[in-house]
Amino acid sequence: MPPHSRTKVVSDSDPELSDLKMKHFTREEILNHTNDKYCILEDGVYDLTNFRDKHPGGDVLDFFPGQDATPHFYMLHQYESLPSVLAEYKVGSVARDDSYVYHTPLMKQIKSAVRKVMPMQEWWAPPSWYIKACAILAATLYTDYLWIASGPTIPLAIVSGLLYAAIGLNIQHDANHGSVSRNPMVNRLFGYSQDWIGGSRMLWIRQHVVGHHTHCNRHQHDPDVKGGSVITLSRYSLPKEFHHIQQYYFLPLIQLLGFQWVFLGLHDLIEMKYKGEKLPESYRKERNIAIGLRVFFFIRKFVVPFALHFSWYTLLCTYLWMAIAALYLGFFFILSHIFVGAKSLPEDAKNIDWARHQIESSSNVCGEKLGISNGGLNYQIEHHLFPRMSHAHYSKIQPVVQKVCEENGVNYKKFGTILSNLDSTFRQVKALGSVAVYNEFMEGL
Ligand SMILES: [Zn+2]
Repeated sequence: MPPHSRTKVVSDSDPELSDLKMKHFTREEILNHTNDKYCILEDGVYDLTNFRDKHPGGDVLDFFPGQDATPHFYMLHQYESLPSVLAEYKVGSVARDDSYVYHTPLMKQIKSAVRKVMPMQEWWAPPSWYIKACAILAATLYTDYLWIASGPTIPLAIVSGLLYAAIGLNIQHDANHGSVSRNPMVNRLFGYSQDWIGGSRMLWIRQHVVGHHTHCNRHQHDPDVKGGSVITLSRYSLPKEFHHIQQYYFLPLIQLLGFQWVFLGLHDLIEMKYKGEKLPESYRKERNIAIGLRVFFFIRKFVVPFALHFSWYTLLCTYLWMAIAALYLGFFFILSHIFVGAKSLPEDAKNIDWARHQIESSSNVCGEKLGISNGGLNYQIEHHLFPRMSHAHYSKIQPVVQKVCEENGVNYKKFGTILSNLDSTFRQVKALGSVAVYNEFMEGL
């Protein structure tokens, strides 16, 4: 839906709905995929299958069956209530989730201030974004060509790793948030650059947009801070014995994430699962595309280079290329959400000001120059408030957002240097791995 359009509001008192005998569902029925087509919006259950082709945002609707899509709806659109166009797709009612409050005075004030400096019709990517994206893609194609034609070298692996990270931060991230263009096909095409670098547009949207953005730093909801694994990043998870030294090994471990994305991701695609959870049928078409693109990736980056240039040196370069890409991506992610004072939420959070939480669970680092290489993701606070705004505009709205936050007593965390951010992240990772800190925190609740 266009973020700026205004239509009539759907409510239970609406005469269009008063005659309908709606079936009442339990939340578990929808969230456990009893029906592969239904999703929740507010207190209604919707089958949006036939709305997909009319949806201005395109096929992103395929990712929401089995979900409470309410947070995503208000995160991605500018409506303050459900538009009447959705009424004909309502198939039942359900208890409303009271985790978040969306249209708070704070959010309204931020939106109003931001629109004054950045009108909504200008939120899409400017020409400079396309120039940057095409330059990164062209350089990547050339290094990929050299990788096969001349064989990998260590300098080529370093450049290639950085270019793959640049695609992840600057191109696919914007595209899969739908912020590049009003035309969903443009977003989708650039979004497949995630598959070019060995990931999956489909799994990324499921993890990052559906999981992480909506429930930033929320226990058992944000897949990026799940506790209990080799690294624990959730305040609400009891650390295991070995976590007390995790501050020393989290960075070396991040470099291995590339192997997880490339190989375990393929397993998920084949099984049509996301982290063990069966995906609804609406994912199937996108999943088939993802498998085809992953096979192409394997041929391009492993089969052909190994067939032509197999040696220990080739293996070393391959490892280096994947490790650098993963380290760059993972390093800046962890800096953005894991720092001293970062807000986190328990699994059963209630009546949380969604905007305030997004701000207080994210941090910014440095300024415009880092934004050029990092896809504006060093403006993580602005990104979490406006994920459908091109990253090219974040530096412009940043002072406005900060000013509103300061006026409202919202903790707006901005690090002046990467080193100061890393220091804070190191201390927070250490605290999250400490049983004593966990016990103290839980007693204080
Ligand atoms: Zn994002």
